[in-house]
Amino acid sequence: MPWLTLFEEDFQMEEKKKIKSIMNDIIKGIKFALVFGLNIGFTIGIVKGISLAYSNGYLQESLYNLALGIIQPTLNSAILKSVILAIVPVLFITILVSIIRTYRESGLAFISSLIILLYIASFRRITPFNYLLFILILYGLLYPIGISAKLQEKFSFLNKLANGKLILAPIILILICNGFIYSYRLSRSKGPNIILISIDALRADHLSCYGYHRNTSPNIDRLASQGVLFKNAFSQATWTIPSHTSIFLSQYVWRHKVDNPDKRLGNSFTTLAEILKDRNYTTCAFIGGGYLSTRYGFNQGFEIYDDGSPRRRGYHEISSCINKLLSWLESVRNKKFFLFIHTYDVHAPYNPPSPYFDLYTKGRCEGEHLRTSRGIIPGKLDASKLTIEEIDYIIAVYDGGINYMDDQLGKIFEKLDQLDINDNTIIILTADHGEAFKEHGKLGHRGKPYIEEIHVPLIMKGPGIPRNRIYENFVQHIDIVPTILEILNIPQREEIQGRGILPLRNNCEIEEHFTTYSWGGSGAQGPVSLRTRQWTYIMNHNRPDELYDRINDPKEQNNIIKKRPLIAQELKEELKDFIALTSEAKPQVAEKVHIDEELKEQLKLLGYLH
Ligand SMILES: [Zn+2]
Repeated sequence: MPWLTLFEEDFQMEEKKKIKSIMNDIIKGIKFALVFGLNIGFTIGIVKGISLAYSNGYLQESLYNLALGIIQPTLNSAILKSVILAIVPVLFITILVSIIRTYRESGLAFISSLIILLYIASFRRITPFNYLLFILILYGLLYPIGISAKLQEKFSFLNKLANGKLILAPIILILICNGFIYSYRLSRSKGPNIILISIDALRADHLSCYGYHRNTSPNIDRLASQGVLFKNAFSQATWTIPSHTSIFLSQYVWRHKVDNPDKRLGNSFTTLAEILKDRNYTTCAFIGGGYLSTRYGFNQGFEIYDDGSPRRRGYHEISSCINKLLSWLESVRNKKFFLFIHTYDVHAPYNPPSPYFDLYTKGRCEGEHLRTSRGIIPGKLDASKLTIEEIDYIIAVYDGGINYMDDQLGKIFEKLDQLDINDNTIIILTADHGEAFKEHGKLGHRGKPYIEEIHVPLIMKGPGIPRNRIYENFVQHIDIVPTILEILNIPQREEIQGRGILPLRNNCEIEEHFTTYSWGGSGAQGPVSLRTRQWTYIMNHNRPDELYDRINDPKEQNNIIKKRPLIAQELKEELKDFIALTSEAKPQVAEKVHIDEELKEQLKLLGYLH
């Protein structure tokens, strides 16, 4: 039956034509969507990336590597999302419409429109991408009634781009952007590693290298013998958040104003980690949670910020992350890195694991009743009722905690030796503040800036730093950042308020007479102190001020403000003038913080919330 075969051939020809026509439509649709997606994605990515870099202050602060570090991934992801979002619906619509047009089954058009409308209705929130998708879908819906053809005519340059070589233009631009950032990073890859260690609530005078009668810190002592020990180093604040903010920014508390538990380090500030990341440092932090958790903004500039999950004591202990930390060190042995380590191991509740808890308590059974299942919780004790023996017991347990923490640090130092990177690593060890043991009537910290709460260890070792030296000079936390920048030959930033203590590198004492300034409490009304070699002046906003003669009374026990009114007046003027001079704010701001239940729990355990 040849006529039937002929008919079949005709039918097949017709079908082939139809399929070819559908395929042509699909290719045309993909090309159009590709150019559309690339261009829209490129525009959105650039605008979003630049505005992010701007809101972080990277462009204004000339941190171009960091700005590129934000723009590049933003751009790449915007382009990728936009191309996918453009191609998928356009392809979907094109296939549907093409089939409908070819087979004239109008029922399908209704069904597909319904599906798409239901899809649009499922959008929970309007983002630029959802909006873009909506436009694309609308475009597809209008296709069957010929409006999209008119739109295509109007935007015919996109079709021209899609059909010509200009389709390559956005691709080349993306390749140039990505290539530029990688070459920029490669050009800044040499220099010493930096490790900054902050032991929360560690008093300087309880370390053996600071002359303590117990051998609490053999590993820290060894570190000190490899570098410089600053005998008179002071923190800017008596508690965690403002103190670390001062360390990271090199600013006094009255300048950065991150002075309340409901405030966080705003993105507009430029931290040490950001400066170093801009210099192509691989940046990582292992921290103890609590006030250092991501929510307070200290993670700025860190590629990895491990604030852990609550452990035995409700917050992150150094021992729980030590293996992770050591493996991380192995992974970066051939890279230039900045590592920040923070730990609550010495902080209250005092509860080092066995055998450290009882390392120094032997013969001090008078305080045993103070021990709870969570160790000694100074926040729950009435300091006024504690006897000298009980205080001695508390101190013995606190000192055991120092030994425990020191042993953990020993593992890190050993690893640096094993990896043969110790000689090329600058290590800076400090504490964010000290700890009171009833010297002025109370336990713990976050009180007035008395000596027991602000005298902190400061030890530096590494390339370019003299070995085995002890300096008596007065130094402060805000001197840490400018010193690191000096060692790395990075220009000092305008907002930095400390000074490099590098004259010490040349084995000569700093000749200047330095005064240090600290703050305690909460908010703008917190007491402030001025400390010189001879005097301590404490300005209390709502109560009488205090004056101490540091030479005859180094523990600041006898307030002599009434005996030395002239000196007091002079120091008060000096302090007021200094605060006025150093508090003018830049457009950087402290931000409000959101505290969720988990963080609340950690802060309760650390004794900050009740
Ligand atoms: Zn602290």
